[in-house]
Amino acid sequence: MKIRTNFPLQTLNSLNVSAVTDEIYFPCSVKELSEITRDKTNKAYILGEGTNTLFCQANAPLIIKPSLKGIEVSESEEYFHVSAACAESWHDFVLFCTNEGMYGLESLALIPGSVGAAPVQNIGAYGKEVGDFIERVTWFDFTQQKLVEFTKADCQFGYRNSVFKQLLNGKGVITHVHFLLPKVWQAVDSYQGLSDLTPPVTPQAIMAKVIQLRQAKLPTPKVLPNAGSFFKNPIVSQAIFQLLQQQYPTMPSYQQGNGEVKLAAGWMIEQAGLKGFRQNGVGVHEHQALVIINYDRKGGEDIVAFSRFVQEQVMNKFNIALVPEVRFITQHTELDNVNAGEQ
Ligand SMILES: Cc1cc2nc3c(=O)[nH]c(=O)nc-3n(C[C@H](O)[C@H](O)[C@H](O)COP(=O)(O)OP(=O)(O)OC[C@H]3O[C@@H](n4cnc5c(N)ncnc54)[C@H](O)[C@@H]3O)c2cc1C
Repeated sequence: MKIRTNFPLQTLNSLNVSAVTDEIYFPCSVKELSEITRDKTNKAYILGEGTNTLFCQANAPLIIKPSLKGIEVSESEEYFHVSAACAESWHDFVLFCTNEGMYGLESLALIPGSVGAAPVQNIGAYGKEVGDFIERVTWFDFTQQKLVEFTKADCQFGYRNSVFKQLLNGKGVITHVHFLLPKVWQAVDSYQGLSDLTPPVTPQAIMAKVIQLRQAKLPTPKVLPNAGSFFKNPIVSQAIFQLLQQQYPTMPSYQQGNGEVKLAAGWMIEQAGLKGFRQNGVGVHEHQALVIINYDRKGGEDIVAFSRFVQEQVMNKFNIALVPEVRFITQHTELDNVNAGEQ
C-alpha cells in the first residue's frame, strides 16, 4: 500500500488551505484497508476529494484516503443495479450512468467529490438526494475488521445527514455504494430552474440544464477555492417561522413533510449584508451568499474565524444559529458542527 509521511494536503482540499499530515495511507483494496492497524485507524480522518472538508489547523490528523476503483452493472426486470467503488469521481459516475441509459442521478450532476462520500451527507441538489437511489452501502468496519452491509434503512438518510456522519463517524470506510436505478424513468422537472425545459423532457436535457445552472451559479474551486454551501439551510418549527415571517415577509421558506420549515441560509447571509463581503482574504461569494471563498489561500484558522463571524451576524439579525455543512477537522478531533466556530 502506498503510505507517505509529512504529506502536504493543500491540493487535496477544495478550500485550498495548507495543512500537513504526519502520515497518509492510500489503500486500494479491502485487504489493504485491513492492514492499517487499530492504533492508526483510531485517530484517522477518512478523506475523499476534500470538497466538504476544512482542515482547521496547519497540522492535520493521520489521513486514510481510500483509493478503491471500479463500477459494476447488473439488471433485474425493473432495475439497473449499479455498484461503484468509493474513489470513483461522483460526477464521472453520474455521466457514466446517464450515458449508459441508466437514469435517475442526472439532477445530481457536477456535485464535486467521491462516490464514497456521497452517502455520508446524503448529497442533494435540484430536489433529489442520493439516498433516494441507494440500495445498500458496503462498509469496512475498523473494530470488526470486516465488511458490513447497510441497507438503505440502516443508512438513516436525512437532510445532509446519515448514520455515517453520526454514529459511525470515523469508525470505518464506505468501500462501495450500490445504486438501484428504475428502468422506467420519470422526470422530476418541477424544481426551480428546471421547469422551463421544453417537453418531452429527457434525462440528458435535465443533466445538461443542471450542469449549465451549476456552472453559472457556483464558483469553480480551482479558481476560487471553496467547499460549496458552507452552512446547512436551517430547519425551524412552524411557530418560529411565523414569528420570522411577520418581521421578514419575503423570507424564502420550504415546508417540510413533518410540519417544520426549511429556511434559506444564503438569503439570511445576504440580508445580514454579507454578500460579497471580504475580510482578511476570506469572503462571501459575490453571487452566491452560501459559499465562502478562500480568496487569498489563507489557513484553516482564518476560514474558521470568518465563518464564525458570518454565524454571529446571522444570529444577531435573525436569532438563528447557522450550522456548517462543511466538516471542521483539527489535528486531534472533528469540531462539533453545531458549535463549529468554538475552538
Ligand atoms: C463547488 C461545490 C459545490 C457543491 N455542491 C453540493 C451540492 O449541490 N450538494 C451537496 O450535497 N454537496 C455539495 N457540495 C459538497 C461536496 O461536494 C459533497 O459533500 C461531497 O460528497 C464531498 O465529497 P468528498 O469526496 O470531497 O468528501 P470529503 O470532503 O473528502 O469528505 C466528506 C466527509 O465524508 C467522509 N468520507 C469521505 N469518503 C469516505 C469513505 N469512503 N468512507 C467513509 N467516509 C468518507 C469524510 O470523512 C468526511 O466526513 C459541493 C462542494 C463544492 C466544492
